[in-house]
Amino acid sequence: MSKLPDESFRDSIGTINKEGKRAWIFPKKPKGYFYDKRKLVSYFLLVFLFVAPFVKINGHQFLMFNVLERRFNIFSFPFWPQDFHLFVISMIIGVVGLALFTVAFGRIFCGWFCPQTIFMEMVFRRIEYWIDGDRGAQIRLAKQEWNAEKIRKRITKWIIFFIFSFLIANVFLAYLVSSDRLLLMIKEGPALHTSTLVALLIFTAVFYFIFAWFREQVCIIACPYGRMQGVLLDNKSINVAYDHVRGEKEIGRAKFNKQEDRASTGKGDCIDCKLCVHVCPTGIDIRNGTQLECINCTACIDECDTIMESVGLPKGLIRYASEDEIVKKEKFVFTTRMKGYTAVLTILIGVLIGMLFLRNDVEATVLRLPGQLFEHKGENISNVYTYKIVNKTTKQFDNVTFKLIEPKGEIILVGNPSIKVKPDGIAKGTLFIEINPAYIEGDKIKLKIEVYDGENLIETATTNFMGPRSFN
Ligand code: SF4
Ligand code: SF4
Repeated sequence: MSKLPDESFRDSIGTINKEGKRAWIFPKKPKGYFYDKRKLVSYFLLVFLFVAPFVKINGHQFLMFNVLERRFNIFSFPFWPQDFHLFVISMIIGVVGLALFTVAFGRIFCGWFCPQTIFMEMVFRRIEYWIDGDRGAQIRLAKQEWNAEKIRKRITKWIIFFIFSFLIANVFLAYLVSSDRLLLMIKEGPALHTSTLVALLIFTAVFYFIFAWFREQVCIIACPYGRMQGVLLDNKSINVAYDHVRGEKEIGRAKFNKQEDRASTGKGDCIDCKLCVHVCPTGIDIRNGTQLECINCTACIDECDTIMESVGLPKGLIRYASEDEIVKKEKFVFTTRMKGYTAVLTILIGVLIGMLFLRNDVEATVLRLPGQLFEHKGENISNVYTYKIVNKTTKQFDNVTFKLIEPKGEIILVGNPSIKVKPDGIAKGTLFIEINPAYIEGDKIKLKIEVYDGENLIETATTNFMGPRSFN
């Protein structure tokens, strides 16, 4: 195997120049087999991303991440603060799943599914190509003085970028506070919701900043998943990779010469056209090997395949491959590490499904008021409690009542005895439980309480009851 010619690329990232300043990337417009496939995937994901918060199943928004109220809907399963453990398990499953996926298939997620890449490469970058032209025209425009053409192009681009950022911010808000609330706020007008409007404009500014200026640096500098690559990838992970064995051969890459029989010269198949570098949205040279900047966007595969075809060499000089496949010609193997991750993932999914099935649609808690002892009320002993009923269904409970099952006794509600709980709502209040001393064995006994809506039993709760020691 020939030695890599220059290792200086390891000392800096592709977006910083020698003076330590931002090196603006002007990637060539990608085209080819993978780009077409990625476009199709991105159309599907964009529709999904924009529609998901407005779709409801059984009255529950399909996806919602209301972090302020700690309420989440995942595939229309509502997760309340009481279900937070389920939400945490879902998130752990997501992280383990992504880690497993990365160990096996590298950063495929980044190139094909990540919202940052989808918006940057498939929305904002394409608007830029449409207004500013391809790489060459963009470089010329950047160097050009501020004449009428540059002002017109820049202002058009900034306005369109702002409109798209504002749209994305609205959808983001629909995920955050629910689409119902967003639509209501739009209907009522911004004057009644100035604080939300300010938040919306801040989100818009953040998205504008990311897609108009920060761009690929999100993947290179800010994204924690990108940082994890170094520990997750190994020689068996599949990545967008340059086949350096074929590309460099005995004497390395060299320009294409139609007159020579390249195979007999010892020159590699790489004709050093640098198109894979020019098309790269993170500004790297994939021929230097796997690098943290590479988001596996496949643009260099398409570009190199086009060149290989045009010079009559086999396609796939840059392709999806593991280091072992390139060097040792080994095929993909399901490694022990992957098996371990799969086992953990299967167990976690099993636990989550079990918990989802065991989870109640209604949660009732009855807790003794902290710091309160018992009271004598006539012949009975009385304890005071707070109750909370969480209705996770889309039905309204119109007449909630409590029934003491064990032992015998009476439940007295404080205030309005007719409890109503709205869909996705909570009811809280205070109640007394009175029990005859004959039924109290010990100073602390367990109570079983049934909760009804009309005639329907909706939940069974347990709690403690304190009695005087003299009744032992
Ligand atoms: S090296 Fe290739 S796959 Fe990686 S980011 Fe650049 S163009 Fe995309
Ligand atoms: S596009 Fe292919 S042939 Fe051209 S420089 Fe890159 S790897 Fe070499």
